[in-house]
Amino acid sequence: MKKIGILGSTGSIGTQTLDIVRENRDLKVTALAVDSNIELLERQVREFMPNLVCVYREDKAKLFKEMVKDLPVKVVTKMDGLIECATESEAETMITAMVGMIGIQPTIEAINAGKNIALANKETLVTAGHIIMPLIKEKGVALLPVDSEHSAIFQSLHGEDRKKAYKILLTASGGPFRGRKLIELKGKTPKDALKHPNWSMGQKITIDSATMVNKGLEVMEAAWLFDMSVDQIQVVVHPQSIIHSMVEYVDGSIIAQLGVPDMKLPIQYALFYPERRPLTAGERVDFTQLSQLTFEVPDMDTFFGLRLAYEAGRCGGSMPTVYNAANEWAVAEFLKGKIEFLMIPTMIEKAMQQHKMIANPSLKEILNIEQVTYDFVRGFTESGL
Ligand code: NDP
Ligand code: MG
Repeated sequence: MKKIGILGSTGSIGTQTLDIVRENRDLKVTALAVDSNIELLERQVREFMPNLVCVYREDKAKLFKEMVKDLPVKVVTKMDGLIECATESEAETMITAMVGMIGIQPTIEAINAGKNIALANKETLVTAGHIIMPLIKEKGVALLPVDSEHSAIFQSLHGEDRKKAYKILLTASGGPFRGRKLIELKGKTPKDALKHPNWSMGQKITIDSATMVNKGLEVMEAAWLFDMSVDQIQVVVHPQSIIHSMVEYVDGSIIAQLGVPDMKLPIQYALFYPERRPLTAGERVDFTQLSQLTFEVPDMDTFFGLRLAYEAGRCGGSMPTVYNAANEWAVAEFLKGKIEFLMIPTMIEKAMQQHKMIANPSLKEILNIEQVTYDFVRGFTESGL
């Protein structure tokens, strides 16, 4: 029996992870954490019977305690509770599937407690890769990527000498606005941006896909995971999302991982690695039905959030935190209908321009820069610029 915890169990990755638990009776969930969706959490707790749950929002946690008072489950709240969940004693592996920088601290504490990490929360490595990667080594735990591209790269590197990898080819669907020019992106609404052509995901990452900031975050995430510079990572637009990424080796050979666009594949791979389990439900790639696989150069003038990610990644230090925090704030405002679509990358750009980079920020500094960046972009919007 393999015991796991899921931080962000009510989200897109969290619920798909629970689907896999349902299909594999040798997995047991011991800890779950959410922000506020206590209705779904109650159903999950009654079905999977974890020892511990965290409801981050305190008012909701109080209500939740009442809802499950007939069950032997401990309910905790706020950051202390999230950390208690991340370090729950029975869990061997933590699936970090929360959205945003809130994932950093619990991930660090989970590693400190000797847990293996199945990492979905890309914001963690983007902002704190310089803290997480050495800690993973020091504690001797595994860090398994859940993001489909990073799982593909991980699988394409398997059994190879990593020093012989020449570059990574990171594929991108291009999102709902692929092929559009800057002028055509003016006035795009959250409803337009939430229509992803291939993947069904949480709202924040779906908007990140529409701006291609998601790909930018993935470039920085891949640089940390596979110890490469961002300039060794080339984004290739591949609208069919069948090739999930590739590694080119020094001899010119390219190894790729292919599959249907279904997150259960990389989630399951991370949960059972190195074992490959059959995928009981879901489709398989049928080459006779694939009419074509196409590839394009990303348009970094239109999707300038991707260009800015390369700049943030090259700069390093605290700059990726500024990139990420400005984006998190801007996406939330865009979803509330308060700012224009193109203001998302514009805010990232403005925030990066005014930031004085710190080379090796501590966790405290990262969290402080997050707040300072939020204040900056808030002021920037309020000034009506
Ligand atoms: P969702 O928005 O669907 O889910 C987010 C989850 O995080 C929810 O369970 C939410 O709880 C929980 N959460 C948010 N804030 C807190 C908090 N303060 N404390 C505890 N839990 C919290 O996101 P996704 O599943 O789409 O994405 C999760 C992460 O995985 C992101 O970093 C994303 O970039 C990454 N990822 C996602 C992919 C996908 O296919 N969805 C693919 C690759 C990476 P509640 O429901 O209560 O709000
Ligand atoms: Mg991805």
